[in-house]
Amino acid sequence: MRMAKSIMVTATPLKIRFERFNGDIGIAPAKPPVFVAPEDKPALVERARKLLKERDAVLVAHYYVHPDLQDLAQSSGGTVSDSLEMARFGHEHPGSTIVVAGVRFMGETAKILNPEKRVLMPDLEAECSLDLATPAGPFAEFCDAHPDRVVVVYANTSAAVKARSDWMVTSSIAEKIVGHLHGQGKKILWAPDKHLGDYVRRVTGADMLMWNASCVVHDEFKAQELEAMKLAHPDAKVLVHPESPAGVIALADAVGSTTGIIQAAERLGAKEYIVATDGGIIHQMRKRMPGVNFIEAPTAGKGATCQSCAHCPWMAMNGLRNLIETLEGAPGHEVLVDPEIGRRARIPIERMLDFAKRNMPTFRGSGDA
Ligand code: SF4
Repeated sequence: MRMAKSIMVTATPLKIRFERFNGDIGIAPAKPPVFVAPEDKPALVERARKLLKERDAVLVAHYYVHPDLQDLAQSSGGTVSDSLEMARFGHEHPGSTIVVAGVRFMGETAKILNPEKRVLMPDLEAECSLDLATPAGPFAEFCDAHPDRVVVVYANTSAAVKARSDWMVTSSIAEKIVGHLHGQGKKILWAPDKHLGDYVRRVTGADMLMWNASCVVHDEFKAQELEAMKLAHPDAKVLVHPESPAGVIALADAVGSTTGIIQAAERLGAKEYIVATDGGIIHQMRKRMPGVNFIEAPTAGKGATCQSCAHCPWMAMNGLRNLIETLEGAPGHEVLVDPEIGRRARIPIERMLDFAKRNMPTFRGSGDA
């Protein structure tokens, strides 16, 4: 029987339950976010900004990290975006060091695309349940058992898993690439997110064999509670990330990647939105669309103490204090990828980028969780 997952915010280490590829429940630790008192923030931000300059470093932050880091990235010449755009921005930036505020696979992607640069992260133990549920060994065996299928993996995977794949995709290009392969009569082996895979299969009609994994944040959105929320906010448009369950996607006015969700809100022009993705993205939405009301979609049923737990516990491990530690040179913050694995992992990423260049001139890589 499938067990519920939980995300708790306590002072002790969090134990995050996630579904493993074989249906078992795995448990992975996440450090609780470090509280920073508002009066301490200005000095910490100044210190981080000074260190970024001294270290010839650029801060690239994901939409899901704390607003303090998003604001610092934007105000110090870095960026706030999805994993691929983070890696690409770091590549184009003249700085010799890229500091990735996100989770481990994002640091790895930055290193794969920028092997000549130093890539640092505030916490190398910031995981992702999709990555955790896709260990390279069993995944390679799964691929070996289905040699007739083209292996397409989502960005949220380790360098070793990318190295075993034919294509890497982000959520904004997955439909196009799978549709293209389907049009060529190819059968797909898809990993790791089953909800996104299911969505792509419905849209493209492709023959897709699925790996079993889900995101601990998006898997928690609930269709029934979302329907009730819609009734309470009849004018609100619903924006949903496709890592969410099918019942939630069915209620969406727009389905899209992280960047896609922001663009959809700008395009739809409503005064109120219900947002089914990590709540961290709402910080950017409020900055871009002042006066618009953004509501986090519900993640728990009636009677639960938490009515919305839409925050990634591993993204929350990034903070001002460990960013400063990283920039001060504390050991254990550098992302290292085996050069041979990195070389092989780069092939499916570049295949996607080439496809995008030929078929989607405006594509900027948007689209991990
Ligand atoms: S929000 Fe989900 S997909 Fe994104 S890093 Fe966290 S666990 Fe992974």
